[in-house]
Amino acid sequence: MKESMRFSKKENLFGKIAEQMKEKLTSDKTELVKLRSASDLRVTMDAYFARLKEAAETWNRKVAWCTSVGPAELLYSMGFDVYFPENHGAMLGAGKNADKYIPTAVAHGYSPDICSYLTSDIGAFLQNETPLQKSDFTSVPKPDILVFNTNQCREVEDWLSFYARHFHVPIVGIHTPLSIDELTPEIIKSVSDQYRRLIPDLEKAAGRKFDIDSFRETVGLSHDGCVLWKEVLQKAKHIPSPINFFDAAVHMGPIVVMRGTRYAIDYYKILLTELEERIKTNISAVAEERFRIYWEGMPIWYRLSNLAKLFARLDACIVASTYCNSWIFDDLDRNDPFESSALAYAKLFIVRSDRIKENVLERLLKEFTVHGIIYHESKTCVRNSNNRFGMQNRLFRQTGIPYLEVNGDLNDPRCYSEEQSIIAIETFIHQLSGR
Ligand code: SF4
Repeated sequence: MKESMRFSKKENLFGKIAEQMKEKLTSDKTELVKLRSASDLRVTMDAYFARLKEAAETWNRKVAWCTSVGPAELLYSMGFDVYFPENHGAMLGAGKNADKYIPTAVAHGYSPDICSYLTSDIGAFLQNETPLQKSDFTSVPKPDILVFNTNQCREVEDWLSFYARHFHVPIVGIHTPLSIDELTPEIIKSVSDQYRRLIPDLEKAAGRKFDIDSFRETVGLSHDGCVLWKEVLQKAKHIPSPINFFDAAVHMGPIVVMRGTRYAIDYYKILLTELEERIKTNISAVAEERFRIYWEGMPIWYRLSNLAKLFARLDACIVASTYCNSWIFDDLDRNDPFESSALAYAKLFIVRSDRIKENVLERLLKEFTVHGIIYHESKTCVRNSNNRFGMQNRLFRQTGIPYLEVNGDLNDPRCYSEEQSIIAIETFIHQLSGR
């Protein structure tokens, strides 16, 4: 089922029923079983931002901005503190503030149809506001260099280019081929050569020489962090699952911003221990797990907690997602840091052909014992919306697993109708119970 987008309340055909449903959702007695590790997560993330703030205020510490699946290991190995604009974009979305900022970016020539992480982030910057002000930042930390990898989308280069022009700092990056089917030696060579070519500019911005041993160590730490993150996600194979997509979308913070450091490793050891305890004591993420769902596409950041409650009330656990699985770079290898980085970051789901993506999804659906798939078609993220060229039908033919398409957006709430989505999701889960 598809829902129409960008409709006003007046046009809402479901008004009354939907209001009742919303009330039901918010007054619902559904108790979400919160992970105890959330407090350690808070400490880990606070410490990351404190280090970043200190770096921004200290003349001899350097800050690099990096895209979320960019060469973070290279940057950490060269002594940069690393800031991730997409993490900031997600904070704006989760804080339900994106629609306050997007119009400002639009007024500066950025279309409302392009990535709403980008438009909300640039809009907030132009309005001189940031959720980091709660952590005593005056503004986002000024970059000494901006580094991207287009493996995820072209938007990231355009996004960082805005800041390169604003701050008059260098921007460098890696251009990865798109829709990769076979990962050929030529692709690995092209990407690893581009990694190597970043080094002179990074040395200049860092004010220090590249050190291969330090790079090996960082790649090793990143590998170990990713393996632990994978183990965390794989705990959801257990029936009932001790963790769901909504927990994972929050607890993925350290693997996004601190992979390549000990901090991510230390945190995932804590989380893993808690999940193992949960399995032993039979504590599940959703009190009565009856349906196991796969989430394809971006999170809907501004409705994360409402959706978590909705699925819990329907006894449905979202046990796996493309989004959270995207930060498993377990091909990283300290003995071969350049080529293994090229392999890990070109193997990423988002940069692969539909044939490869379908194989990956088919495997995950089996491994996690999935009963239904939800495709979130995100209005402003084409690359993370995989139901636009028939994949949902092909996968249904291959697996027989039913699906639902939900229209929305990662950050822009104007593209999402909560009322219609609740109705669609409830209907879908009821249909699953009939199977
Ligand atoms: S992948 Fe999508 S959400 Fe992420 S930066 Fe690119 S367009 Fe934005």
